[in-house]
Amino acid sequence: MKEILLANETFGMAARQFDRTAEFLGLDEAVRERCKWPKRMLSFSMPVSMDDGRTEVFFGHRVQHHLSRGPVKGGIRYSPHVELGEVAALAMWMNWKCALMRLPYGGAKGGIACNPREMSTGEKERLTRRFAQEMLPFIGEDIDIPAPDMGTDAQTMAWIVDTASTQAGRFTPGIVTGKPLELQGSEGRTQATGHGVAFTATRALQRLGIDCTDASAVIQGFGNVGSYAAETLMFDGVKVKGVSDISGAIWSDNGLDICQLREYVARTGGVLDFPNSEPIDAQELMLQKVDILAPCAMERVIDEEVAKKLQCRVLAEGANGPTTPEADAIIEERGDIFLVPDVMCNAGGVTVSYFEWVQNLQRFSWTEREVLSKLETQLATTFDRLVSFAETRKCSHRIAALALGIKEVADVKKTRGLYP
Ligand code: NAD
Repeated sequence: MKEILLANETFGMAARQFDRTAEFLGLDEAVRERCKWPKRMLSFSMPVSMDDGRTEVFFGHRVQHHLSRGPVKGGIRYSPHVELGEVAALAMWMNWKCALMRLPYGGAKGGIACNPREMSTGEKERLTRRFAQEMLPFIGEDIDIPAPDMGTDAQTMAWIVDTASTQAGRFTPGIVTGKPLELQGSEGRTQATGHGVAFTATRALQRLGIDCTDASAVIQGFGNVGSYAAETLMFDGVKVKGVSDISGAIWSDNGLDICQLREYVARTGGVLDFPNSEPIDAQELMLQKVDILAPCAMERVIDEEVAKKLQCRVLAEGANGPTTPEADAIIEERGDIFLVPDVMCNAGGVTVSYFEWVQNLQRFSWTEREVLSKLETQLATTFDRLVSFAETRKCSHRIAALALGIKEVADVKKTRGLYP
């Protein structure tokens, strides 16, 4: 099983980050092994009726990394290249993220290899309900609570709630987070991850003595995370000069109007040809001289070559795993880029998911203002703890973030001991 996981590049990357951090922490071998490998990995084949009358078999996975600190938590991704190893890597990162944020969860992740852009709403609904049906014995509000990730959204969560509730014979909203408001979703959840990306990026600017109104940004990815990160940065006074998505990349020296861009993307499906912008090569976009670069799309987009040429002051990792370990080494050596690592930068999503879960358990609801203010308090506390750990222990922000998360998990495992 280890070989299958390690054959996946993304899992290999998460494993190398873990090994390096475990070495830094001086973790003993037994705890290291217990922390590194996932607890449960489930794979399903799912036949689905397509609109043209065919039956297509899709493959999906759910990985639960650790159950030692509470139920597991993590998104569900719909993307053509989803593999077990990728899902396991994302579950491992979720684990360190929840522990870093001191949320009472372990990490999990799920995914289906499919292309949601080419599927009708009916096909996505049938696939989601089938996946929910397969996962039902293994998920629940005190076992494993899924949420949206790349290619999924509040509607996807609504279908899961409905499938689970129909099976249970009662309404079970606590089974997932990131739900629509009318199904007891939380105010602030949709924008939470992007809001957190912008909040931590501007906190990094503050540390560098750069005023938001003098700052500029480039965002890769204009989905849930990227669009809300861009919008919040614009409201903070930052000029968002460049944005890319799967359709291409655009640039405006004067800054893009993100509210109009959001409407344009909803209408046309992509950022390309947005009025008052010029096209730019997607790879070149990341290398522009701006204060904030926020990769908010996918893994491993910043490799050695890109890292050497980066001209940003703050690298705010909205996506999970956008920077390879080789690129990390270059960024560390350069020393001129303030890295906000993924497990910190995009933790706004899981934090507000936690708030949603707490509200569901209590049959209570908070206002958007309450949610976002609690979120900012929690992000600010963890951000400051991370930066001061890195300063005291003279390590990179990547190592600091992972060390804080991994140590929390390792301590729980040691205290609980080994069963039987
Ligand atoms: P999404 O599906 O809503 O959006 C993805 C965006 O990336 C789309 O705009 C797509 O066009 C773009 N994209 C895809 N390939 C691209 C490419 N090659 N170049 C540029 N853009 C490209 O997904 P999301 O929910 O915004 O997730 C994005 C990232 O953030 C993922 O790594 C995900 O794991 C991470 N994340 C998401 C959440 C969440 O709450 N949704 C929370 C934490 C982390």
